[in-house]
Amino acid sequence: MGINAAVNFFVYAVLDRVRSRSCMAVFGVGSVSCGCYQGSKWSSRVEQEAVAQYAEQAAIALAAVAQPADLETWYHAHLGRNGELTRYKRSVGQCPPEQRKAMGAAINQVAVQLEQAFRARSTAIKLQQLAARMQAQRIDVTLPPRTKHSGGYHPVSAMLREICTTFCHMGFAVFESPQVELDEVCFQLLNIPKHHPARDMQDTFFVSEDVVLRPHTSPGQIRAMRQFAPQPLQVILPGLCYRYEDITPRSEIQFHQVEGLLVGPQVRFSDLKGILLRFARAIFGADQAIRMRGSYFPFTEPSVEVDIKCTLCDGAGCRVCKHSGWLELLGAGMVHPRVLINGGYDPQQVRGIAFGMGVERMVLLRYQIDDIRYLFQNDLRFLTQFV
Ligand SMILES: [Zn+2]
Repeated sequence: MGINAAVNFFVYAVLDRVRSRSCMAVFGVGSVSCGCYQGSKWSSRVEQEAVAQYAEQAAIALAAVAQPADLETWYHAHLGRNGELTRYKRSVGQCPPEQRKAMGAAINQVAVQLEQAFRARSTAIKLQQLAARMQAQRIDVTLPPRTKHSGGYHPVSAMLREICTTFCHMGFAVFESPQVELDEVCFQLLNIPKHHPARDMQDTFFVSEDVVLRPHTSPGQIRAMRQFAPQPLQVILPGLCYRYEDITPRSEIQFHQVEGLLVGPQVRFSDLKGILLRFARAIFGADQAIRMRGSYFPFTEPSVEVDIKCTLCDGAGCRVCKHSGWLELLGAGMVHPRVLINGGYDPQQVRGIAFGMGVERMVLLRYQIDDIRYLFQNDLRFLTQFV
């Protein structure tokens, strides 16, 4: 049964009920003019019509209510403490005593049925509003989602993190050191005295005569050794370096290096080879091979250059590897005894291995990029290829 049908049913039920009784009160619709007595007479007919008319109008008004606020208003007007029905109830006392019971029962019956109709209407309005809200807030699941623009790591940052992670898995800790460094730490303690020709290997920015922008991460070796000596040491030193270079496809004035340093009583050259082979395979593929060539660095003795198989031709020889099949990866060697002493170690007790690599060079090798300047131009057309 629908709500309106229920209300109609209720109205006729009230009318039937009222008409079957012989109440004596006289009701005026919308007012309490219950002059039960008209002189010594009482008018049953007028009373029946008044109650019936009131019940019908109240029910019709309820059926027309569509908003919760109007529902509230209707309740106060009819069923509230000062509502119409309450006033009818109060007027029962003015009826002749023998008629009061029947009259009270009839009004209570109307009250109960109006309450029921009110609850039914209240539920119906809530359901209607819920349905309207669900319709208005309906989510179209077939709609394609909006594109999410998320950032990503710069290829150099990504490579730096990958290198650090690889060495951390081998037991290395990350040690950071200053980018603005003393000449003493940057050169002299690394076995490069003033006016030594080895200084020509790094075109250095001098802040003052004794302060430089570090041209390599190697001064971090001295700082790490002085912090941990005489304990064994296993660290990597990542960070930015600066050199007074022409900006060309092969060189930039700023670049990242990662230096590695392992010092301890059992350290051997074969450890260096094993660590670097594992590193090369982690970064460039499980079938990578490395090659060591004798070289010179002032702070290592002996010193080597380490190559990997050309990533483009897989060792067959091509233009990139100048038909050698190998690409230069990094420099390495056993830590020079004088550097160990400067770091606070006894070269009779411990030995050290060290290696240093350019992060940008790793990126160029992996992605076969032929110009380092792309990495510093902040061109999103280039950078988004790596996200
Ligand atoms: Zn090649």
